[in-house]
Amino acid sequence: MTTSTESAAPIRVRIAPSPTGDPHVGTAYIGLLNFIYARQRGGQFVLRIEDTDRARFVATSEQMIFDSLHWLGLEWDEGPDVGGPYGPYRQSERTEIYREHVEFLLASGHAYRSFETAEELDAMRKSQIAAKLPPRYNGAHRELPQVQIDAFLAEDRPYVIRLKVPVEGETIFRDELRGNVTFSHNNVDDQVLMKSDGFPTYHLANVVDDHLMRITDVIRAEEWISSTPKHVLLYRAFGWDIPRFWHMPLLRNLDKSKISKRKNPVSLIYYRESGFLPQALLNFLGLMGGGMAQPTEQEIVSKGMNVKEGDIFSLSDMLEKFDFRRISLGGPVFDLTKLKWLNGEYLRALSSEKFFDALRATIFSDDYLRRIAPLVQTRIETLAQFGDMTDFFFKDDVMPAPEVFIPKKHTLEETLAFAAEQLTVLEATVFAVEDLEPALKQLGVEKEWSVKDNFMLLRAILTGKIASPPLLESLMVFGKARSLDRMRRFLDTQKRQANSRH
Ligand code: GLU
Repeated sequence: MTTSTESAAPIRVRIAPSPTGDPHVGTAYIGLLNFIYARQRGGQFVLRIEDTDRARFVATSEQMIFDSLHWLGLEWDEGPDVGGPYGPYRQSERTEIYREHVEFLLASGHAYRSFETAEELDAMRKSQIAAKLPPRYNGAHRELPQVQIDAFLAEDRPYVIRLKVPVEGETIFRDELRGNVTFSHNNVDDQVLMKSDGFPTYHLANVVDDHLMRITDVIRAEEWISSTPKHVLLYRAFGWDIPRFWHMPLLRNLDKSKISKRKNPVSLIYYRESGFLPQALLNFLGLMGGGMAQPTEQEIVSKGMNVKEGDIFSLSDMLEKFDFRRISLGGPVFDLTKLKWLNGEYLRALSSEKFFDALRATIFSDDYLRRIAPLVQTRIETLAQFGDMTDFFFKDDVMPAPEVFIPKKHTLEETLAFAAEQLTVLEATVFAVEDLEPALKQLGVEKEWSVKDNFMLLRAILTGKIASPPLLESLMVFGKARSLDRMRRFLDTQKRQANSRH
């Protein structure tokens, strides 16, 4: 494959996830595409951790990203754990590099300091919204006289550093899937490049790193396309070559909105813990975007395939046949029913020995059973009762009956509203007993729910029953990803039932 911008440089691609929570299914999708692209071209696949957003940083997230990518078999050639010639591969270890680069932009007049306070920026935004204008920085400090800048600096006023986007004209760049994409500078804000805490924003760090890490092809999700003109301006300001850009169509919910946890499980941990096979998930993600040719009419007839069989292919099939030029831009739908069907096909294709191994590696692993056992040891009289007491740990779904989950003092509506609040608390709180317990109790106080009703409801949703082993300890073993999914499914089902009653 040749393109006009193609150079002889060895192909280098990267994924650049931010460790802000559970690894996302979108990271696996983009990871798979980058992996295929690199392997098909004898290139290198780099993993870079973009951890400059300290407010959203989650300490356990990086390891979960590594584990999930290993689980999927998307091995990287360079990264924070394996090293490589262009490290460090963790942005928080590169702050000095960004500082030097932003200094260069300041000196060359491509960036400027902006000293407004948060309140001033807020007032600016509000008045623009009131005037029905798109909220953006108004450029007030673009041309501050040097004496003023020096005075502000002398009094230690905090500032950010912004990109000086040309006032007129437009930025045009080539997207390999779309052709030329044009953004008028009217619609490009003077992006903050360096925050007042001295950390770079995504835009600065991403461009500097892609250049220094010799990335030839930026293959990422479509949601970044509106950032790309800013990146192109930065490449030009530095005088650097611009990589090829491939913006992949976003994964979508069934209703075509951008994939979201409210409508689909998005945590890779969920898929692993729920017993999806990595090869099935990769196959499913490989279907998104249409890079795999569908079997021809002739193949279908001559191989006696049914059309769905054409949907089943391995990672090595993808390495052989996946064609980036075939990718279509219509939003691929993440259809969980289809993923389950595929997973079922993969399960059926396993030998009975391998199927047994799969069970033992996941929902009947020693590790999992070892964590469940102490929760029930003091509560049973025969070992067989272990099954009765712990069934919810091994089920895909439990759906409590109304008499189990609606407390006597509350109505169905109140109960569902409170359960939605519990979900929000579980989403927002560190998933540890000592954090969840006070957070849930606090919610109960605010909404005037007794501790008993509060925890009974949560118990009913998560276990399907009125009695269970210690609830929060059970949640710890069941895990955050599956617990939250269970709550969302409960709320979803109840909402649908309520709608069909009306
Ligand atoms: N850190 C960004 C993310 O979380 C990377 C986007 C990109 O690939 O440029 O997805």
